[in-house]
Amino acid sequence: MKYWRKPLDLAGIRIPHGIIHILQERCKGCGFCIEFCPRRVLVVSDTYNSKGYHPPVVTDSTGCVSCGLCEFLCPEFAIYREEEMLEVQSL
Ligand code: SF4
Ligand code: SF4
Repeated sequence: MKYWRKPLDLAGIRIPHGIIHILQERCKGCGFCIEFCPRRVLVVSDTYNSKGYHPPVVTDSTGCVSCGLCEFLCPEFAIYREEEMLEVQSL
């Protein structure tokens, strides 16, 4: 993220970032999480789970803003996120 000037409180600003976990065996391949992720972080994987579905996979681990939509939409509770707060300087 670029600011046009350096904010005075820059040291105190934190940006949410999500680490996505996918429970492959729970997934039924509906694709809701892939379709509705606002950051296009997920895609269909090439692998199959034991039920014969393609679970999602994270393509860009830096892209997740931890909005929680994938977690909210998943009918199988197969995806969840761990939120961490990053300093602006580390982005
Ligand atoms: S938490 Fe939001 S941004 Fe991150 S993968 Fe899920 S839907 Fe996408
Ligand atoms: S929303 Fe859940 S069940 Fe559907 S593809 Fe994503 S992880 Fe799998």
